[in-house]
Amino acid sequence: MPAKVIVRDLSKRYGGVEAVRGVSFAIEAGEIFGLLGPNGAGKTTTLECLVGLREADAGGLEVCGLDARKHPREVKQRIGVALQSTALQDKITPREALKLFGAFYRVRAEPAALLARFALTEKADARFDTLSGGQRQRLALALAFVNKPELVLLDEPTTGLDPAARRELHAEILQMKRDGHTVLLTTHYLDEAEQLCDRIAIIDRGRVIATGAPRELIARSSVSQSVTLVTEPGIDGAAVAGLPGASEVRSEGAAVKFRTARPTETLAALAALLAARRLELVELQVKKASLEEVFVGLTKSAAGDDPS
Ligand code: ATP
Repeated sequence: MPAKVIVRDLSKRYGGVEAVRGVSFAIEAGEIFGLLGPNGAGKTTTLECLVGLREADAGGLEVCGLDARKHPREVKQRIGVALQSTALQDKITPREALKLFGAFYRVRAEPAALLARFALTEKADARFDTLSGGQRQRLALALAFVNKPELVLLDEPTTGLDPAARRELHAEILQMKRDGHTVLLTTHYLDEAEQLCDRIAIIDRGRVIATGAPRELIARSSVSQSVTLVTEPGIDGAAVAGLPGASEVRSEGAAVKFRTARPTETLAALAALLAARRLELVELQVKKASLEEVFVGLTKSAAGDDPS
């Protein structure tokens, strides 16, 4: 299947600010793809260029097989968008908003079906200004689905929601994928990206600094894994510090904790050491680096490489 989105060397500046500087990535049909990056990295600008809200200065944008710079109106018929804060009139109700938005499209879903799908039936006739943050976000998603889109773009869909509402939104986003939609989302929550996204691109100061499946990025990174070890009798920290690859060794109660960038080698040597000293293994935990640690490592090293 052809890619749903192809961004090639996209650039956009606002006056003297180079917000996006040669961004490229592709999104396959049926994927949940995450754009991650620190504040001001250029995520929203990239999204806005894709949906035709901003004109790119340079680069290629292909969306649903169409040249999005040449055919922005046609692209709008095929995509659904939920931007950071959906501003609607205070008095409008979810049912009215869905009807109104639907009127702009050739293909449209029934308001009642969307209200049911996004758990808003009870609030169908409530004024917008009486909806909670989570209900407003669900309405924003329902509005993004009004034209039965092939591709859905969500800009920070869960920002500001409580943990339960975030979990509900995660379930909604996973359901979109199961229903065959392709999803592009931006988020600041690394755990969310790790959980939901098939692949992500990390953007920093207008450039893509890494792309791949969250698990691949973690495996590729040089951020080390953390190990917790308890033996009977206790092992001394100096012996652990002598293991190949071990670093940051410290004692915490009965446990010795350390990090290793070469876990296979370290653990093989540890097993040999325990056998030689006749120490019994009581607990051994090896924790992979989180996407958050990888993200912090990557954005820090990119800052070091780039003087701008
Ligand atoms: P955040 O995570 O904070 O939402 P972002 O990654 O979405 O950030 P953008 O909103 O795309 O980043 O902003 C990229 C850069 O462009 C920032 O330096 C921002 O200040 C600047 N910028 C964005 N919109 C405008 C604008 N309308 N006029 C001038 N500068 C802008």
